[in-house]
Amino acid sequence: MRDQDRSDLAVELEDVCVRYGEIEALHDATLRIPRGVSVAVIGPNGSGKSTLLGVLSGLVTVECGMVRVLGEPLPPRRGRVAHVLQDTSVRPEVPMTVAETVRLGTYAELGLLRRPTARTRERIREAVERLAIGDLLDRQLPELSGGQRQRVLIAQGLVQDADVLLLDEPVAGLDVTSQRIILDVIEAERDRGRTVITTTHDIGSAARADLVVLVATDVIAFGTPDEVLTPEHLSRAFGGHLHMLPDGTLVLDDPAHHGAPAAPAAASLDHGHHDHEHHAYDHA
Ligand code: ADP
Ligand code: MG
Repeated sequence: MRDQDRSDLAVELEDVCVRYGEIEALHDATLRIPRGVSVAVIGPNGSGKSTLLGVLSGLVTVECGMVRVLGEPLPPRRGRVAHVLQDTSVRPEVPMTVAETVRLGTYAELGLLRRPTARTRERIREAVERLAIGDLLDRQLPELSGGQRQRVLIAQGLVQDADVLLLDEPVAGLDVTSQRIILDVIEAERDRGRTVITTTHDIGSAARADLVVLVATDVIAFGTPDEVLTPEHLSRAFGGHLHMLPDGTLVLDDPAHHGAPAAPAAASLDHGHHDHEHHAYDHA
């Protein structure tokens, strides 16, 4: 591939594999993600979604294959990739306020001791406003609801002003208002030319992204939502967790909870419709 073509890519993976001891978390993953798109990484629990984000931010070591982020080999240069970890993995021992948590996002650039510039302060102000957390600034993180805490973590990601934004399960299990705020921010960042890569196990949210990566240790499919979210691909990735209702709607029983009863959760195909209430998948 020519270097010039390469510079148009946000992410390039070739035959990447990752192991944790005996467990193979990613196998021969090959992907080319252009800049300025939103991407949903979807797959069942344990399919390698968080691992893939970790590869892109340099958090996870790859065993084989080639990775480039923004045209350069790993690890990404400081400030180019912001990685917002899954909320459940963020359990601060030291109590921190919301304001301190958001400001932490600027330290990679500033160092702990330097005073923020006017531009940095403006970025913080803007992120706080976009995530609607202005009235929470003095609160301690553990006091917040899940939705509030997730908005704070995303604000911390935004102030990093990175070209590539990685969000691990940013709306899973959140209240509708927080989901709406976060999904709007994702689209707005994409509209600003950022590459936003999110993980999800919800087919409806994946359908709203520009591109979808379906993973189950292997990359099962990669392309537009229409190309990727087909019954064939989904049943390969999700196996028995995928069900088709008599009206053609595809639903997953909750893949995040193994051993859950067969009652379908509200995760289903929502082809191109930006309407959270309708999950009908038109089979035509
Ligand atoms: P997902 O985000 O899709 O749920 P992960 O990327 O977290 O999946 O995990 C993929 C596989 O790797 C799973 O089998 C998981 O148990 C395993 N795994 C993930 N992180 C570690 C780790 N730090 N040590 C050992 N195994 C891990
Ligand atoms: Mg995960």
